[in-house]
Amino acid sequence: MAKRKIVKVGDDVLRKECREVTVFDDKLRELLDDMAETMYSANGVGLAGPQVGLLKQVAVVDTDGKLYKIVNPKITFTSGEQIDYEGCLSVPNENGKVNRPNEIVVECMDENGKQVKIEAEGYLARAFCHEIDHLHGILFIDKVIEED
Ligand code: ZN
Repeated sequence: MAKRKIVKVGDDVLRKECREVTVFDDKLRELLDDMAETMYSANGVGLAGPQVGLLKQVAVVDTDGKLYKIVNPKITFTSGEQIDYEGCLSVPNENGKVNRPNEIVVECMDENGKQVKIEAEGYLARAFCHEIDHLHGILFIDKVIEED
């Protein structure tokens, strides 16, 4: 595993639509491992492809000790809402309140190309929403309803 450089706000790569992953090989699995290592070493709870400079629909999330590696994710169900502070490894020293659904279902593939369905609520749901936004060029600062 190797740590990767985290792209910061201002870089165009954070504003682009990511491509779906079609090849599930060792290179993809290594990328997801590297992203997890990069996320943990930066004390983050999520990291998406564009944040390491790659326009691929991949992300890692870990809010409570369980690591999710998600590929080609889609949010297929949302319910309720929650408003809380968010930050981003690509937007240093900024926080703001963002409204997110309280419960979601994410349909995606794992690192081996197997279809999986993840039900999440609360902080975990927030983290998935934030990372999946990254795959479509959206940053949390676009959605802040109240600055810190
Ligand atoms: Zn982020």
